[in-house]
Amino acid sequence: MQKIICLYGRPAAGKNTQAKKLAKEFNMKIFGMGDALRAEIESGSELGQQIKSYVDEGTLVPDELMEQIIKNIKSDESTTGIIFDGFPRMLSQALMLEKIIKESKFDFVGYFLIKVSTETALHRITERGKLTNRPDDVDQEAVKNRLDAFDEQSVHLIKHYADLNKLIEIDGEKSIEEVYKQITKNIN
Ligand code: AMP
Repeated sequence: MQKIICLYGRPAAGKNTQAKKLAKEFNMKIFGMGDALRAEIESGSELGQQIKSYVDEGTLVPDELMEQIIKNIKSDESTTGIIFDGFPRMLSQALMLEKIIKESKFDFVGYFLIKVSTETALHRITERGKLTNRPDDVDQEAVKNRLDAFDEQSVHLIKHYADLNKLIEIDGEKSIEEVYKQITKNIN
């Protein structure tokens, strides 16, 4: 059965880095939600135009638009499953994911919360912004909105996955290799 792994955490917690390492070792496909949204914007589609202001501001894209994005999620038989980077980020999205898991009969491994402090997140966002010039890493208002979105939504998601016994907490302040070890310990 194909696996589903979800990586969640503050912006710049290390989700992207860990997703790439996991994808390589376990032959899994990555669905990076931020990347998928930026690609949709880049495509110039009508949906992309509707999404753009949210991503630029650093606020969460509403459910009715997200539903159209997640239609693109498909299992790929040449891999062993999907790693979600930055999805679900709202309780309503957790329910969308549960539907996908049921319909496509995935094995849900867990919801990995990569924990970093606000200070660490801010420091890493600033450094990344200098390298990539990504607008929502450079714009201070967008950075604040993204951190606030995490603080608002995380309580609900943490409770939801803890209740399902699927929450796995990871210390994201450690080195890339140490974070990776903590995650892989929980994947079989
Ligand atoms: P990221 O690259 O993961 O930091 O995401 C960049 C931006 O994309 C976020 O600030 C949101 O505007 C949007 N976004 C990413 N993932 C989600 C999601 N699961 N739900 C709603 N909006 C999202």
